[in-house]
Amino acid sequence: MTALITPRHLLEAGLIAADQLDGTEAVAARFAVSVTEAVARLIDPADSADPIARQYIPDTAELVLLPQESADPIGDHAHSPVEGIVHRYPDRVLLKAVHVCPVYCRFCFRREMVGPQGDGTLSGAALAAAIAYIAEHKEIWEVILTGGDPLVLSPRRLKEIMERLAPIDHVKVVRLHSRVPVTDPARVGSELIDALKSSGKTVYVALHANHPRELTDEARAASAALIDGGIMMVSQSVLLRGVNDDPAVLASLMRLFVENRIKPYYLHHPDLAPGTSHFRMSIEEGRAIVAGLRARISGLAMPSYILDIPGGHGKVQLPESPVREVGEGCYTIEDRLGDVHSYADRN
Ligand SMILES: *Cc1c(COP(=O)(O)O)cnc(C)c1O
Ligand code: SF4
Repeated sequence: MTALITPRHLLEAGLIAADQLDGTEAVAARFAVSVTEAVARLIDPADSADPIARQYIPDTAELVLLPQESADPIGDHAHSPVEGIVHRYPDRVLLKAVHVCPVYCRFCFRREMVGPQGDGTLSGAALAAAIAYIAEHKEIWEVILTGGDPLVLSPRRLKEIMERLAPIDHVKVVRLHSRVPVTDPARVGSELIDALKSSGKTVYVALHANHPRELTDEARAASAALIDGGIMMVSQSVLLRGVNDDPAVLASLMRLFVENRIKPYYLHHPDLAPGTSHFRMSIEEGRAIVAGLRARISGLAMPSYILDIPGGHGKVQLPESPVREVGEGCYTIEDRLGDVHSYADRN
């Protein structure tokens, strides 16, 4: 089976019901659809609230577009000096070499840029210009391949990009953000791993997964192969209503990452992407969930809870903030059980 990319494919695979076909067609006319075999196997069609289906199967709620939502919620375009590069922080750039993904996540913050109608995959000339930009800017310490999902590139194409980065001395780290170990684990073979290593730089893969069920045996084996191959891994998740808006679910997810040698890195507050309001919660609600997570898990398993400020102003942490100043130098601090203690740092 290849990927399911039309509503009719989803119907034939039993992932939507006949009476959902029209609604699904309407969503598919607006946003890209794709579900891989690995993901389809994970979905329980009998469960109308299945947290895997919710991430990948179109929902008519996506047709609700709100004025505060934006096609470019985190301001990529405002910080793009040349095609394929986003340079928002001095020491690191995004390199968006490809605009397609094996799956299309219904909450994606780049949903207007990825997919067959998206920004386009870089031509040879555009890639050369992007690499030249990186070579000219000596402050760039890290290159972050994102997209699209960079691990959909063939090992040959990946190797070509890595070999072009290799001679740029000021670039020390290459990071790839990917969902492939979960969505298409068969792609992670020795050829792909060798390609990633051909830059000679320190390579990190940031694995995007949002629910513990996504870390299947195959996904874990793909991650283990990357790590055994000398690649470091961190995690990235999005806090999503109806998927993981529960401290217990997040705790199992974060523990699974750590057990599989993947350091929890970011938990993103959902971005204001078009047609995604059914996934969002308030920052207050998000903070309460993250405080519940912190109360349960090892510090090693704790990600940073992050908001990307709309408009391209960058990421900030949304701390749980258990500390309240109640007087000059006097604070109250709430512990993980909800008990309040006082703390004074002067007499
Ligand atoms: C998120 C992002 C990065 C990476 O940020 P980190 O905090 O280093 O993970 C870099 N550039 C852009 C434009 C980004 O949106
Ligand atoms: S894999 Fe990443 S870039 Fe692709 S649709 Fe999902 S969230 Fe968006």
